[in-house]
Amino acid sequence: MVRNRFQRTRLGQDTYEDITDGLQYKKIEALKNPNNMSLLMNTDGVRVFKSSNYGIWPVYFTVNELPYNQRTKRENCIFAGVWFGVLKPPMIAFLEPFAEALANLQRGIEVQPPNEESYIAKVFLVGCTADMQAKALLINMKQHNGKCGCPKCLQEGTHAGHKQQYPFQTANPKGPKRTHEEARAHAEAALASSKDVFGIKGASWLTTIPHFDIIEGMAIDYMQGTLLGVTKRLIHFWFFDKNGEWYCGESKLAVDNMLESIKPPMEVHRMPRSISSHLPHWKADASCLHHTEIPRGHQRVLSAWNSSPGLHPQDMEAEKPGRNIWLYSDR
Ligand SMILES: [Zn+2]
Repeated sequence: MVRNRFQRTRLGQDTYEDITDGLQYKKIEALKNPNNMSLLMNTDGVRVFKSSNYGIWPVYFTVNELPYNQRTKRENCIFAGVWFGVLKPPMIAFLEPFAEALANLQRGIEVQPPNEESYIAKVFLVGCTADMQAKALLINMKQHNGKCGCPKCLQEGTHAGHKQQYPFQTANPKGPKRTHEEARAHAEAALASSKDVFGIKGASWLTTIPHFDIIEGMAIDYMQGTLLGVTKRLIHFWFFDKNGEWYCGESKLAVDNMLESIKPPMEVHRMPRSISSHLPHWKADASCLHHTEIPRGHQRVLSAWNSSPGLHPQDMEAEKPGRNIWLYSDR
């Protein structure tokens, strides 16, 4: 089944239809060998009791070569370990065994399929998905609301009104970009100086895994960064901020017509809804949860791993007017 990637009929030569079409995948030559496999890592903290701060941090891996519908089944996800405690896991201790295991898997393991000869399979980590807060811990860097808090670029941002802001940089909106090598150098410099360097606070075990790129291999947190961050902000400017220069509430009808004519792919289980009839609900914070249906439908887009855009509004597709302004209802 893991050889599916060589049998899949592609719709186009230059399209990103699965994670196996992405740059981070393709740059690992060994993955052209059908015996070899790759993994996607995911972790996040979950509070277990309402009355205390005890939480668990499970670590999961999925096998990218399985067909998508098999890959996401619970029985095919690898539950690799868990942290339980009152605080967030100290990543420098928590990630060490995973880094060691992943390095060993790349050297090769013996696989014994039923009724076939055994063979050696090499297993590579190509990507990691986590929300913005978890990602900052995994990379060992500042959070998105701190100075140099973007995991994709080196922009410092400015601090005004008790908030860290990242004004649009017209000359170089997405840069200067971070690189894996630089991130390692910044981590070393941070360790030597006991101060963060370009937002990096110190070493991360993830930089020690051969072939894994801690910058390009880290997925964008589409739900929190784009939808609840940028999209929510844009909707505010377009339809709530009546005195603002971006207000276009008078075009609501035209927007409604566009929204209602969108036919999302079948993976998206909520239909776009009109601004006019649903705008009032959007004033409540909880209503933004409507957005959260989008990332589920877009998982495959996310995992395509093109040259990943960053965390800042200017790095994201959502900055383009007209994108991601869907309101959702159950289909
Ligand atoms: Zn950035």
